[in-house]
Amino acid sequence: MAYFLYRAPSLLLYASRASMAPGSPALGAPASAGPADPALIEDLVAANRILADQGVVDGYGHVSVRHPKNPERYFLSRSLAPELVTAADIMEYDLDSNPVDRRGRTMYLERFIHGEIYKARPEINAVVHSHSPAVVPFGVSNVPLRPLYHMSGFLSEGVPLFEIRDAGGMTDLLVRNPELGRALAQSLADKPVALMRGHGNVVVGSTIPLVVYRAVYTEVNARLQVQAIMLGGSVTYLEPEEGRLAAANIAATIGRPWELWKRKALAKEKP
Ligand code: MN
Repeated sequence: MAYFLYRAPSLLLYASRASMAPGSPALGAPASAGPADPALIEDLVAANRILADQGVVDGYGHVSVRHPKNPERYFLSRSLAPELVTAADIMEYDLDSNPVDRRGRTMYLERFIHGEIYKARPEINAVVHSHSPAVVPFGVSNVPLRPLYHMSGFLSEGVPLFEIRDAGGMTDLLVRNPELGRALAQSLADKPVALMRGHGNVVVGSTIPLVVYRAVYTEVNARLQVQAIMLGGSVTYLEPEEGRLAAANIAATIGRPWELWKRKALAKEKP
């Protein structure tokens, strides 16, 4: 009897949590915020394919979107190469990065990047994490990544560096728990891009097209910056004011590349 009384509160807790999630098969799993608009899921699938197409992600890397019906939930593929992602692979998570309905699927180890950034940045609705190759050298060098043309004016806000040793000492460099995710979100602060030393970068935006645009042009700017430096002369970068003006203008036109990228990426046969 004593055992029963001792156990009862936790059983009730589980029962009430489960009852908050009608249809959820996992006891204690977070409740779903309901299905998203299929057009949003299509954009998320397209974002995965576009980022692969544009050389931002390869077999690794991921992109997520916040749930429009509940800011405490987000959508992210199961663990899969981005180029292979379809609507059926998209999973819903709470901001602690617990799955709503796991169904035995393997999850990205670094999903905490997404959940912790959504917690820290209420205005952000889309997150890309990649090992975007041209950007990696800027995470290990003291040469700062700076915007050198109008397409990457958003970088003029400054590009912070996440040094994982400061948060976790010796690690395998992966953001594999909520604490490291929080530390990354702190390094990112209010900026659109953060470098991850010896690893890659994270890019954020208010929409899927914006975050894809930023991730693509962060990679392009890094490539062009190395080329400009290799010319051997001095490099003139955008002034912060030029960057702000360019970013504001281009934000209004990103529908143009987005429609092109999306059509090409979705028309392409999956490998
Ligand atoms: Mn990674």
